Amino acid sequence: MDLFEYQARDLFEAHNIPVLGGAVAFTAAEAQSAAEAMGGKVVVKAQVKVGGRGKAGGVKLAVDAADAREKAEAILGMDIKGHTVHKVMIAQAAPIAEEYYMAILLDRANRNFLVMASVAGGMEIEEVAHTQPEKLARVGIDPNVGISAAKAAEIVKAGQFPADVADQVADVLVKLWAAFVAEDATLMEINPLVKTEDGRIVALDGKVTLDDNASFRHASHEALEDHASANPLEAAAKAKGLNYVKLDGEVGIIGNGAGLVMSTLDVVAYAGEKYGVKPANFLDIGGGASAEVMANGLSIILGDPDVRSVFVNVFGGITACDAVANGIVQALAILGDTATKPIVVRLDGNNVLEGRRILNEAAHPLVQQLETMDGAAAKAAELAAK
Ligand code: GDP
Ligand code: MN
Repeated sequence: MDLFEYQARDLFEAHNIPVLGGAVAFTAAEAQSAAEAMGGKVVVKAQVKVGGRGKAGGVKLAVDAADAREKAEAILGMDIKGHTVHKVMIAQAAPIAEEYYMAILLDRANRNFLVMASVAGGMEIEEVAHTQPEKLARVGIDPNVGISAAKAAEIVKAGQFPADVADQVADVLVKLWAAFVAEDATLMEINPLVKTEDGRIVALDGKVTLDDNASFRHASHEALEDHASANPLEAAAKAKGLNYVKLDGEVGIIGNGAGLVMSTLDVVAYAGEKYGVKPANFLDIGGGASAEVMANGLSIILGDPDVRSVFVNVFGGITACDAVANGIVQALAILGDTATKPIVVRLDGNNVLEGRRILNEAAHPLVQQLETMDGAAAKAAELAAK
């Protein structure tokens, strides 16, 4: 889960990383009163989960509270790289002397954690890496050791930070690592980390990604979720414990197991080329395919208005094909008239003959069976193109 900047700010504050005052506002009036409470001179910042807001006009300095209201009016509703701005952060303004960069991230390629630090902050770090690679220090972090004061000093040196801020920057690094571990993050980035005119180091913009696999350890993370902009079908699937992902084509896909679902996407994409159709979404019903799971899965897939046909591709294992077939029959009975789109089923594996027999006997008008995955994909693509 990626956090909004204001959430990252709050998280940093909770871990004693120096930040400035910040409040979230959903309306221009709220922006004005938040600015008033902060003494008037503030920065109004679009809250969207995408970088480069500054360049896009989503970060504006306001001289007083009335100005903050005007700036908020201009920013709210703005589109930044396809993200609509629904809220702004009112941030205490800082007189900036220098802008630095600091990040801790999971370095998957090296199976390690990585710190990146640079005195060339503010701009996009990809650009720094490209144009001034000598200005970007990259230091691997042994997860069993972490970032001690000595390690932090080493990173500060590698990043060529000026002597007058070295201790403060090192201190932020130690605290950022502590926060990273405590919150089970996979990314914590501060850009810019600024030196103010009076010589203080402050995190001015934060980007945080939390590891969803660790969410069971963090009851508090639930409140950080952005339910408003989540896809309603994805949210419904999540609530039912199903893995549903929205794509932009026409064929709905249900399978059991991530591997089978991925290859189903490939064969549907391939078969669909002929008709100009693509997978609309996919849903992994996992190991068990009870009637209830199948009904939940089908209702989510059929609830996607982009879906024109559905491909159910199941390889019977511990849950045998007859159970899956019964699941499909019962699911369609549960869904009744709400199921309106053609469903192509391919069953194989454990007890396949009995599974196919059950579906044939039920002879549901929306369902047709094919024996091979390629054949079924071609049929589903053809039906979606009709
Ligand atoms: P991003 O463009 O989405 O990364 O948004 P940032 O929060 O990093 O802001 C972009 C730029 O706006 C920063 O690099 C700063 O130069 C400037 N900025 C942000 N906050 C302040 C502030 O409080 N005071 C001043 N003077 N400039 C700011
Ligand atoms: Mn930034």
